[in-house]
Amino acid sequence: MAKITLEKLRHSYFDSPHTAEDYALQQIDIDWQDGGAYALLGPSGCGKTTLLNLISGLRTPTEGRILFDDKDVTHIPTDQRNIAQVFQFPVIYDTMRVYENLAFPLRNRGLDPQHIDQRVKKIADMLEITDLLNQRAAGLSPDNKQRLSMGRGLVREDVNVVMFDEPLTVIDPHQKWMLRAKLKELHQQIRHTLIYVTHDQTEALTFADEVVVMAAGKIVQIGTPIDLFEQPAHTFVGHFIGSPGMNILPCVVENSQIILEGHALATTATIDQEKIGKNGKMEVGIRPEFIKLAKTGVPARIGKIADVGKHAIIEAIIGNQPITALHVFNQHHSNLPAEGSLVHLAFDPDHTRLYVDGWLAMK
Ligand code: ATP
Repeated sequence: MAKITLEKLRHSYFDSPHTAEDYALQQIDIDWQDGGAYALLGPSGCGKTTLLNLISGLRTPTEGRILFDDKDVTHIPTDQRNIAQVFQFPVIYDTMRVYENLAFPLRNRGLDPQHIDQRVKKIADMLEITDLLNQRAAGLSPDNKQRLSMGRGLVREDVNVVMFDEPLTVIDPHQKWMLRAKLKELHQQIRHTLIYVTHDQTEALTFADEVVVMAAGKIVQIGTPIDLFEQPAHTFVGHFIGSPGMNILPCVVENSQIILEGHALATTATIDQEKIGKNGKMEVGIRPEFIKLAKTGVPARIGKIADVGKHAIIEAIIGNQPITALHVFNQHHSNLPAEGSLVHLAFDPDHTRLYVDGWLAMK
């Protein structure tokens, strides 16, 4: 396994890029620790596949370096990078049995047959495909084909990194949940360095120790799932992560206080004065989970209410601004306000954030 360093990496699909827009990938600097589980998360077109292809060697970056354990591999071809990849669609040998599919990458390296046998059985056991070992791969269900494909990615012990590119896309929702949990468990046992690319926040947040959130070719935040939820560094992260995402509302700042539609909001974190000095666009960010109906607070009118069982998603209007709150039911489901009623909303001071030009402006 290897530590992976991306140093001032930039990539353009144009021959002679001039402006920042010519780059599909803006400057990327990352240090991934040996044995960590990382996710690259972002919407379609943000540059995830481009970055994966640079790490695997399918493309050479326009600028910057890629290091595996401090060794520069930027110009080394894919087959010499010693990596394993699992793609969206299973890559398996249909005519071989499941056992041979798993053994193949090890036999190719001339490993001892007894060791191969142990390793194949261990991986099959972890992926719960032991009872399929003697079946031909062609006859497997789509889910089991993708399990096998993952097994082929994980079976070698000597790889620098295993990269997964949206591996659960073709899997049905229930199996998706199981495989996601399985992968996390597998990582804890085998401790390979894993990079997992996805546009699905649940996949990224359940799998990774650390998530790299990308937007328009840039990294907007690198953090643990909790960091991304509690402390989004950018309004994009606030909105993209969470369901529903963070409320982002225009506000002003007066005497170091956030003022929303004429009402001061308390915060426990301090506003970074340097960042607000620049006359940028000010917005307050608060997740629906941290807004409560209360006796005092910001006056609001209740709009639509969606009862989703365990809680309700309340849409409200503060002044002219729509806002969403998550409302937890009491024991009797009797504490819901009526649509159209006037209420007060209390913003949790520990989770009320100020953003200037999209970036967090609090210390
Ligand atoms: P998706 O989830 O849809 O695969 P992504 O996040 O992986 O998206 P990339 O495929 O890396 O994003 O694309 C990043 C940008 O680079 C996009 O604007 C895309 O149009 C552009 N791009 C990707 N491949 C090429 C190519 N071969 N030639 C030119 N432009 C490309």
